[in-house]
Amino acid sequence: MCSACDTPAPTSARLTVRQAASEERGTHREQREHVAALHGLLVSNALVTWTAGNVSERVPGEDLFVIKGSGVDYNGLTWEGITVCTLDGTAVDGVRAPSSDTDAHAYVYRNMPDVNGQVHTHSTYAAAWAARAEPVPCVLTAMADEFGGPIPIGPFALIGDDSIGRGIVETLSGHRSPAVFMQNHGVFTIGKSARAAVKAAVMAEDVARTVHISRQLGEPVPIAQADIDALYERYQNVYGQK
Ligand SMILES: [Zn+2]
Repeated sequence: MCSACDTPAPTSARLTVRQAASEERGTHREQREHVAALHGLLVSNALVTWTAGNVSERVPGEDLFVIKGSGVDYNGLTWEGITVCTLDGTAVDGVRAPSSDTDAHAYVYRNMPDVNGQVHTHSTYAAAWAARAEPVPCVLTAMADEFGGPIPIGPFALIGDDSIGRGIVETLSGHRSPAVFMQNHGVFTIGKSARAAVKAAVMAEDVARTVHISRQLGEPVPIAQADIDALYERYQNVYGQK
């Protein structure tokens, strides 16, 4: 079962069923409260349905991360709905079994040391591009700002082992985009923090929607690569409050 999909995985998948830790010890409570609250942004931005979707964050200075429990409802989600895991995905604190996307998150944390936060959703427009396995072309200045180019498509991957994590790492390594649309599945984003990954998930859905609507009336006009580079550079390094 994919907690994000809430659908049974194909029988051919090698399922790793993650168990909850044996008890709640209350470790990393402040970070778990923060990550629980960030899940509210997935709801308020209409990125998730039912229990789909998850946010995780690396624990600074420790080989651990925190992630939403599998199948946990967004209503009344508190820190106790967030599970602490080792970087191989084993739960070490919390009474909830961690999300069945835990293997993917763990693989990314092990292989991308600069990534401290991740988000997974099946938001509608992004998943529609993923279903066609079509990258979103960079035809909006907001896309150049946030993604520095097109949003790439990752390979089709079954749930239940490292396949999704490998696909995310292979696609995003050396890529400016903090978002990948995994083929036939949905959005995975990375960031310097969980909040940054949430922002990327919100922006990915926004531009996927706008470019989709633009397509209905004709072919969007590309932005020259030099202009994409200039926009990305300014937004990433100059824009905002200092
Ligand atoms: Zn999923």
